[in-house]
Amino acid sequence: MIAWKDYHLAKSLEDALTALHGEPGPNRLVAGGTDLLLDVQQGRQPPPHTLVDVNAIAEMCALEVRDGKMFVGAALPLNRIIASPLVQHHAHALYQACSLIGGPQVRNVATLGGNVGHALPAADGAIALLGLDAVAHVYDAGGYHRRGMGELYAGPGRSALNADQILVAFSIPMEVGGCSSAFRRVMRPQGVAIAILNMAVWVQADGEVIQDVRIAAGPAGKVPFRAMAAEAVLRGQAWSLAILDEAIAAFLGEARFRTSPHRATFAYRQHLAGVLLRETLSHAWQQARAEG
Ligand SMILES: Cc1cc2nc3c(=O)[nH]c(=O)nc-3n(C[C@H](O)[C@H](O)[C@H](O)COP(=O)(O)OP(=O)(O)OC[C@H]3O[C@@H](n4cnc5c(N)ncnc54)[C@H](O)[C@@H]3O)c2cc1C
Repeated sequence: MIAWKDYHLAKSLEDALTALHGEPGPNRLVAGGTDLLLDVQQGRQPPPHTLVDVNAIAEMCALEVRDGKMFVGAALPLNRIIASPLVQHHAHALYQACSLIGGPQVRNVATLGGNVGHALPAADGAIALLGLDAVAHVYDAGGYHRRGMGELYAGPGRSALNADQILVAFSIPMEVGGCSSAFRRVMRPQGVAIAILNMAVWVQADGEVIQDVRIAAGPAGKVPFRAMAAEAVLRGQAWSLAILDEAIAAFLGEARFRTSPHRATFAYRQHLAGVLLRETLSHAWQQARAEG
């Protein structure tokens, strides 16, 4: 069953915007279609009139260094992100997250723009981008805008972007000397889609001192979650098991876990959180120390 009436392969951002505004609508952006088409087929989203495909827009498929940051196109398939030495060496959490999403067929078409646009609080790519302090480049009728990751979400499965706002790319600070990151997640054994719990940690080491740190996790709230209290406990402290325990206590105090019928109970997530934070943080720390 084809659930849409028309399909438009956009050649440029302007072309995509024109197609999105075309009558009679509603029209929807599509990249890999691994979230959107299932949602439409299973009745979670109304069928669009026109699918506006962004895969042929060159800027949205770029992966390069721009102004000292990594510029990762929002329509670049995940398998091409994983294959990039730039990502492998300078954005470890993103590399690890993208490597875990779906299987090879999904990664051949799925994109970061779709992972963020679908707006789930535990989407793996989104959690990595949040932990890495990525900035989104958004294009609409008013031109280009920059948005922090925290500004892209309105609630579970609800993007803060309007239907005619296009995620073009993400700018990501490069991990160089003394900085590193890690991504870990726990899935149900048969799970292929969304994690029971995932986490991305970025850390900057100055000798034995945690100079700076960012912790992102999901699902730990209605939108991808930054653990500011746990970060504050760690920032400026010498690395020790005691400070790690304090950070875990702060994390458990601020995360908002819930029981989800198909994945895990609140109690299980509480239990996992400490284990996952310890492992993810330790891994990022050891790598930051090794590269410092
Ligand atoms: C079998 C399977 C396994 C999966 N496993 C995982 C997993 O392990 N981890 C995980 O996080 N996800 C998983 N997913 C979900 C999905 O594959 C990812 O979220 C993927 O990154 C979505 O990207 P896409 O390009 O296919 O998005 P699409 O389906 O094309 O789009 C998703 C949404 O984003 C919007 N959108 C797309 N591109 C843009 C853009 N550039 N600007 C603005 N809005 C845009 C669309 O309009 C739509 O609302 C899985 C899905 C399947 C089917």
